[in-house]
Amino acid sequence: MDTSILPPSNKGRQYEIRAVGLREFAGLRRDDERLDPFELAHYAKLLVASFEQIEPFLTAETKAHLLGSGSDKWSGGACSQALPDGRKLIILNPTHNSNRQNATLMEEICHVFLGHQPSRLAIENVNKHGKPIARDYREDDEEAAYSVGAAALVPYSALQRLVEEGKTSREIARHYNVSRELVEYRMKVSRLWEDYKVKVVSG
Ligand SMILES: [Zn+2]
Repeated sequence: MDTSILPPSNKGRQYEIRAVGLREFAGLRRDDERLDPFELAHYAKLLVASFEQIEPFLTAETKAHLLGSGSDKWSGGACSQALPDGRKLIILNPTHNSNRQNATLMEEICHVFLGHQPSRLAIENVNKHGKPIARDYREDDEEAAYSVGAAALVPYSALQRLVEEGKTSREIARHYNVSRELVEYRMKVSRLWEDYKVKVVSG
């Protein structure tokens, strides 16, 4: 994979190199290929359990909270203690759409790949800007995991090209199976936002 095309900021380059590494690890050869976090989770020794699988262990009250009034306050959770076979258990919020689940799962995968140490059951919770608002990792670990995950889902080299071609954030989002917000976040942190606005406005 081509690592010669990297974003302008120092931090962005560090994240991008790790993201490109993750895509290679997932067997992707081109930057326009869609990364499937569920496949990558398997390689990362993460067991993504469905909510139905953990349901029997929850009280009716907890279940009602997680799926009802509290459903927008969590994205996913990782159990800090590994299972006997070495795998780590991940649960994703079943009320979120696949775009959001992909981003959440990528963040969890990145915590593992980047060697971050959670202290207890870590509940991921991001606001509409994709920023974690409750966390069980150090703040810079949260930023790194989210940033690397987003970069692995939407690589800079491809994003730059697609912006140049005049593709909309909606089209790019559909292509990579992520939210439009994630694509626009990637444009902003990669300093492609100004180019994008010019392209979109000028049509
Ligand atoms: Zn996190």
